[in-house]
Amino acid sequence: MLKIKNLTKRYGEKIAVNNISLEVESGQITAFIGHNGAGKTTTLKAIAGILDFDEGEIFVDGKNVKTQPLEAKNVIGYLPDNPDLYDNLKAIDYLNFIADVFKVDKSTREERIKTYGERLKIYGDLGAPIGTYSHGMKQKLAILGLLVHKPKLYLFDEPFVGLDPLTSHELKLIMQEECKNGSAFFYSTHVLEVAEKLCTNVVIIKDGKIVGQGEMEKVTKDESLENVFLELEKTDEKHN
Ligand code: ATP
Repeated sequence: MLKIKNLTKRYGEKIAVNNISLEVESGQITAFIGHNGAGKTTTLKAIAGILDFDEGEIFVDGKNVKTQPLEAKNVIGYLPDNPDLYDNLKAIDYLNFIADVFKVDKSTREERIKTYGERLKIYGDLGAPIGTYSHGMKQKLAILGLLVHKPKLYLFDEPFVGLDPLTSHELKLIMQEECKNGSAFFYSTHVLEVAEKLCTNVVIIKDGKIVGQGEMEKVTKDESLENVFLELEKTDEKHN
């Protein structure tokens, strides 16, 4: 579903992402973990097609994000770390706008907005302007906007930040359901305990380079993900 080959992204002299390669298959939930400034958001934005990159190739569902940007974007759902939505729009108008862009028919969009709006506990607030929403409500609305068009690849940048425990729990269930239906998730997080329970796979990035990746069970073995992560950070420190 997602294939990254030798991706490099520089900001001036700074190499933010340094020759990384990885794959995420349909049905997998892959956690993308790493210290602050490791290169997670840069990678997610490059996949989503909103940040140009210097070297390498990215394919989403077989579409090259550089040479087939519309085809790739059509199957991607990107949740940024701080969703910047249209404050003057009513939430329901925003959702209908998204549904129009992705050509979701009337009955399908209504059914999805009701089902997921209720599950995410935001259905009753959809008539209000987005500018009146709290941070968590905006986060829920952005997620609902993705579920309206049901992408094949969900790219989430720290999706659980700002969500209340009930909604976080519901989102985890929805992620698992979506995977059973053939979608895939690639999401950045600092909450390793959740990642360890929820994810089938993990990719660990440090200073722009991948220092560990694979099936969660194989990467963690008898250790916690937190211990694996801390050990990798220490190992690298020894090398520096
Ligand atoms: P965090 O966990 O704090 O969100 P991250 O892993 O998402 O971090 P990135 O935001 O991808 O990290 O940043 C990777 C590196 O690129 C950092 O050193 C950061 O300072 C740098 N960087 C990011 N955006 C820019 C930019 N627009 N201009 C210059 N440098 C940038």
